[in-house]
Amino acid sequence: MNNSYDLIVLGGGVLGTFHAYHAINKGFKVALIEKDAQPQGATVRNFGQVVPSGMDSKWQNFGRESLAIYKEIQSQFDISVRQEGSIYLASNEEEVQLLEELKEINDSNSYSSELLTKKQCLENYPNLREDYVKAGLFFPEEVKVEPRVMINRLHQYLKQKGLDIYTGETVLECDALRSGVQLYTSKSRILSSSKVIICNGSEFKILYPKLFEESDLIVSKLQMMQTKAQPNYMLPSSVLTGLSIRRYEAFAECPSYASIKEKEDSESFERKWGVHILFKQAADGSIIIGDSHEYAPAGRIDKLGFDLNMDVDNFIIEEAKKIFDLPTYDIQNRWFGMYSQCQNSDIFQHTIDEDIHIVTGIGGKGMTGSAGFAKQNINSIFNLEHA
Ligand SMILES: Cc1cc2nc3c(=O)[nH]c(=O)nc-3n(C[C@H](O)[C@H](O)[C@H](O)COP(=O)(O)OP(=O)(O)OC[C@H]3O[C@@H](n4cnc5c(N)ncnc54)[C@H](O)[C@@H]3O)c2cc1C
Repeated sequence: MNNSYDLIVLGGGVLGTFHAYHAINKGFKVALIEKDAQPQGATVRNFGQVVPSGMDSKWQNFGRESLAIYKEIQSQFDISVRQEGSIYLASNEEEVQLLEELKEINDSNSYSSELLTKKQCLENYPNLREDYVKAGLFFPEEVKVEPRVMINRLHQYLKQKGLDIYTGETVLECDALRSGVQLYTSKSRILSSSKVIICNGSEFKILYPKLFEESDLIVSKLQMMQTKAQPNYMLPSSVLTGLSIRRYEAFAECPSYASIKEKEDSESFERKWGVHILFKQAADGSIIIGDSHEYAPAGRIDKLGFDLNMDVDNFIIEEAKKIFDLPTYDIQNRWFGMYSQCQNSDIFQHTIDEDIHIVTGIGGKGMTGSAGFAKQNINSIFNLEHA
């Protein structure tokens, strides 16, 4: 590989990779550097639900653009994208009200959705509990991916399109030169580039630790689990339930949201641990269930520890059982993932010496919003907005 580029992207997660994707599409010479042999961060630990329906209006636009990008790539190269839609299931009248209001907002944005009655939900979703569901709101355009497959396939696809990928190599230092940037890696390699984009996820100890420590970035730790393959059972789409309706940004734009939230018990277990219940069937027939949220400042990430809190896991399973009578709740795998997010804005962007652009803190919307956001950001970094 020639060691000089128009753009070097640091971080092979979804946000970094889609920056590389758009830069390659613009005809730039691009390299991607990932510290692990394969990405191990939030991008491979998540549900893989691409759900613009859950985002506020700004990020719904990025999410809808991402949907088009995922589908376009999938039409050329199998990156595990499946268009099965997503459904929100309401468990009481307040949540039904929020679904109706969200439907109206989406109608006015020309984003397709369909309200389902209790009966329709029960017909469409096998083993859904009658005593849980009151109504549903279905988004047919939305897709899901297999996170552990998707990112590696996307890297393969981009290699074919000319992306140089350095894996198992950590960037230890970035130095701004009079023109461009020089990067020093853990394999004693020196690379140079006109511009660098750093998408380091929640890795805050290697580069610019003081900058991150002094920022408003926080890290969220989420607990996840995966059942054994469900015998003869098919969940037709991604499922988000009542607690997600009460948590996702999209619903905060509904007229009744504030008054409904006011009535919630702020001391409840689900509020304390940020639990909401989502289901997604993986390609092997298992169901991924999650999740919870525990927070620490970027400079004190170690505070979150490496253990799983079994009270949280048990609570998630008990709540899940109130929603679906799955054939099996035997768990084959448990893990946690971490993502970073800003406390005062929707993403962290910071530029050093003109050509080093840090972009992280995309929060819980990275699988949904990265592809669309990165397109706009590449245009902005390379001044292509009016091209
Ligand atoms: C449990 C869980 C469930 C989620 N579910 C969903 C979902 O269903 N839908 C959705 O839209 N979003 C979801 N998210 C959010 C989504 O996963 C994240 O927003 C997204 O993956 C963040 O991507 P990223 O590229 O910024 O970070 P990461 O995936 O963490 O990638 C950062 C990469 O940078 C690399 N790196 C860091 N420093 C260096 C260095 N110095 N040199 C080289 N490489 C470096 C790291 O090794 C890592 O691979 C979920 C997140 C979690 C944790």
